[in-house]
Amino acid sequence: MRKYRLLSASLMCGFIAVAGGVAAQEDTPRQVLFTNVNIFDGTKAELIQSGSVLVEGNLIKTVSAEMIEAPDAYSVDGEGRTLMPGLIDMHSHLCIRNGMLEFRDNYDQMANGAYTAIAMQDYLDQGFTTVRDAGCNILGIAKAVNNGIVPGPRIFPSGAFLSQTGGHADTGSFNDVPGDMDDLEAHMFGFIADGIAEVQRAARHNLRNGATQIKVMAGGGVASEFDPLHTTQYSPEELEAIVEVAKDYGTYVLVHAYHDRSVNRAIDAGVRVIDHNFLVSEETIIRMKEEGVALSVQAVMSLEAFGDPESITFFSADQKAKATQVNSGARQMMEWAVKHELLMVTGGDMFGPDVVRQADNIIWFNDEITQNPHLSLLTATSNAAEVLTWSGGMNPYKEGTLGTIAEGGYADIILIDGNPLEDIHTLKRDNVDFVMKDGIVYKNWLPDDKAPAFLPAGPERNAYFGNL
Ligand SMILES: [Zn+2]
Repeated sequence: MRKYRLLSASLMCGFIAVAGGVAAQEDTPRQVLFTNVNIFDGTKAELIQSGSVLVEGNLIKTVSAEMIEAPDAYSVDGEGRTLMPGLIDMHSHLCIRNGMLEFRDNYDQMANGAYTAIAMQDYLDQGFTTVRDAGCNILGIAKAVNNGIVPGPRIFPSGAFLSQTGGHADTGSFNDVPGDMDDLEAHMFGFIADGIAEVQRAARHNLRNGATQIKVMAGGGVASEFDPLHTTQYSPEELEAIVEVAKDYGTYVLVHAYHDRSVNRAIDAGVRVIDHNFLVSEETIIRMKEEGVALSVQAVMSLEAFGDPESITFFSADQKAKATQVNSGARQMMEWAVKHELLMVTGGDMFGPDVVRQADNIIWFNDEITQNPHLSLLTATSNAAEVLTWSGGMNPYKEGTLGTIAEGGYADIILIDGNPLEDIHTLKRDNVDFVMKDGIVYKNWLPDDKAPAFLPAGPERNAYFGNL
């Protein structure tokens, strides 16, 4: 069975070679040439047929409809597969499994970190080379991935959620008194912050440790105990203070919000991305379009999971009732978003048992709402990359672009057995035959005579792994 071969031999060899002190110095970075591939460049609705892509080091050097001359390159024969940008999930919670409380109550943050490493390998195996993490204790993990200590997708981390007392990230107990901190807050899973000074400090603390944007809980949620769905969270002044901190760092704020009052208050304060949005009116959708506010879509969560809340074993009766209410508005909201051509990105908000099927979020959005594979694919490639640029100076990936197959872009490339522009279901993991991130191969299911079984790390990679 090749189904769950998570890491290719190449990565392992990359680690071992450096750990053994091999540090051959060469002048030119390693080249990898992809031939015989049909290219979805992340933007256009047509494939470039039988094209070639040359990668040099960690960047894409050439994209062509013709054969590229590169005699020194390692050659990968795609055998007619679709070559496309690595997928981007815009709403991950890499360190959450079975709700937020499992690692607080039954394990500890060491176990949480070990789980997160497995989850990250799984994202890579599915072809997701970048995630925007929408909240949890992820800042140390993101730093470790960037420094080559653990393998994982690129992470745009939000760090700890910002939540008011009794808000969507308040995981404390009924008997807490103001100021009490539960284990999750102590480990920077979420910050309970009230008032301008506290929200400023919480936002700055995230940014201090590498957050690329700030995630705020701006209204009631389903999987939380103290906040009925109808609640609006954070005052206008608190939201404005958080947005101001983000702007001072050159980045932006995304919010968890469901209904008109929360969403409009957030937009008034300068928030740029609304995640969820399931219960808003068409008027609010139109306002988002007019003001350039992006929508982050969770199709599986809202349509499949909340359509059958009994299946979510860790939900209480109250949480299941809230899920049913959200499900009732989600389809209409997404149809309005398509009609009014919002800037849409997809982010699964899927974790635990669902982490193995992140692509289903794109597939469900396509099958249930857009019926337009090109549009659906944009939400996880170039649209997503556009929103990621809003992290501005906090974006740690400044060498290249993301989400497109373009010269000067990062070599985040996947090969699909099939054509997702015709059949979106080919995005499922068993069709993802090759995964490269930052020029490193994380998965290689191609026959041995079509691609080197292992592509050795070049000299630039030695620097990357130098901290080991
Ligand atoms: Zn979430």
